[in-house]
Amino acid sequence: MSLFIQTSSHICESQELHMIPVIDIGVCNDCGSCIEICPTIFKRNNETGLIEVIDLPKYPEDHVQEAMSVCPTDCIAWEKAQ
Ligand code: SF4
Repeated sequence: MSLFIQTSSHICESQELHMIPVIDIGVCNDCGSCIEICPTIFKRNNETGLIEVIDLPKYPEDHVQEAMSVCPTDCIAWEKAQ
């Protein structure tokens, strides 16, 4: 007898797509650790000199979590996309 289980992976993927990392720039101390860890997600704005999140269609959760873990001021957080 076979048993088929429907997974909810499509639901998880959908939720990931709507979460974006944000930086509380007022708390950021400009250490650059997030850029070192995730240069494809975080960058320095050449005009303002401030750290920014690169605009991506999807953010790999494990990489963002790693950047959060090394951020000395805990100023990176997940936010629901508009
Ligand atoms: S790791 Fe945190 S404090 Fe350092 S530059 Fe990135 S956001 Fe700013």
